[in-house]
Amino acid sequence: MTSPLIEGLERVIFTVTDLKQYAYCPRIVFYTYCLPLIRPTTGKMEEGRLAHEEARDRERRRTLRIYGLEEARRHFDVSVASAELGLTGRIDLVLEIGAPHPANSSEREWIPVDYKQTERRAGPHVRWQLAAYGMMLEETWGGVVRRGFVYSLLTRRVEEVPLTRSLRQQVREVVAAMREMVERERMPDPSSSRRPCVNCEFRRFCNDVG
Ligand code: SF4
Repeated sequence: MTSPLIEGLERVIFTVTDLKQYAYCPRIVFYTYCLPLIRPTTGKMEEGRLAHEEARDRERRRTLRIYGLEEARRHFDVSVASAELGLTGRIDLVLEIGAPHPANSSEREWIPVDYKQTERRAGPHVRWQLAAYGMMLEETWGGVVRRGFVYSLLTRRVEEVPLTRSLRQQVREVVAAMREMVERERMPDPSSSRRPCVNCEFRRFCNDVG
């Protein structure tokens, strides 16, 4: 279960996808780690993957004006990890602003960009995701991360999310709660709303959601 990016740590290494799932329903993360279950690749996941690939191709052709930037280097599909958080992730796009020389890496600003198939504004799960990316970028590459962008694949608009101290603290607390739950194998209560249950792939394991 450990990531090759953080070798030698004897603890569960979560992914940023787990963080998002936890916001949706903590039980999904419990099932993922505590039941020997092979999760199928659904048609929806495949559609999402193709939409991300198309977005990346379009990204290469367009200017940076959509992000309100004059100049930046683009890095696609960036793998990041944090030994402190015990978390790994893969970022759709990272924008690099500032000194290109490694000696001046502390002057560089990184901006993680996440592509989303939604018209809605970024909810807590997306904010946590961007903050986690920012924290991992700082730990992996140095420099500073002040904000992230959400790019809607549907509206082709960009939303800026400030990566505040309190948002970062929320990420630490959520990862700690996930770790406690998985390491103690404590199944959490079902999601308080039944809406997420309707299309949940783990529905057959939840006998208490009606
Ligand atoms: S069926 Fe509902 S309670 Fe069970 S894991 Fe899915 S979302 Fe959570």
